Amino acid sequence: MKIICVGRNYADHAKELGNEIPDEPVLFMKPDTALMRKRDKFYIPDFSSDIHYELELVVRINRIGKRIQSRYARKYFDKISLGIDFTARDIQAKLKAKGLPWEKAKAFDLSAALGELIDVTSEMDINNLNFELHKNGEVVQKGNTGQMIFKVDQLIENVSKYFTLKIGDLIYTGTPEGVGKVMPGDLLEGYLDGNKILEVAVR
Ligand code: ZN
Repeated sequence: MKIICVGRNYADHAKELGNEIPDEPVLFMKPDTALMRKRDKFYIPDFSSDIHYELELVVRINRIGKRIQSRYARKYFDKISLGIDFTARDIQAKLKAKGLPWEKAKAFDLSAALGELIDVTSEMDINNLNFELHKNGEVVQKGNTGQMIFKVDQLIENVSKYFTLKIGDLIYTGTPEGVGKVMPGDLLEGYLDGNKILEVAVR
């Protein structure tokens, strides 16, 4: 199982980090050891002093596929959720400055929190889902999947051009603006269309 993540997929978030709006999806991966099990707590790793949360819509793949055309993409996922792409922003800034790969900043143990998986239904409009992150009860991120630069179907087309998708793979589709630092004791809660489906305690 692999975790594929999309960077800079919301214009306002790309801007807040001083990045250009990409003309094709920015992709990176996390290994299966990055996945946080439901009841895990997130422990701030000792190699970073600036860990950020990034709340993202997550899509779970349910069929093997490669070179999937966007118009068939819906057949390749059956569940969605919210996840947090934990990022060591201090390490990422150093790696970016040198043009080096991001794995140490993005793919470390427990860096991928995952909420409850929700069935995709025919009434669901995947391109019009509201989601928000609360930190200690306060709203810190608010997004709608309609704001994505590359929508879920286009992402599946682009990802599967390079990487064969397998059952259980997860795609983290990028974060809206409002990313920020976590501290020990913080409680992060993710809401999808008003329903809480993610909770992470930071230690
Ligand atoms: Zn992210």
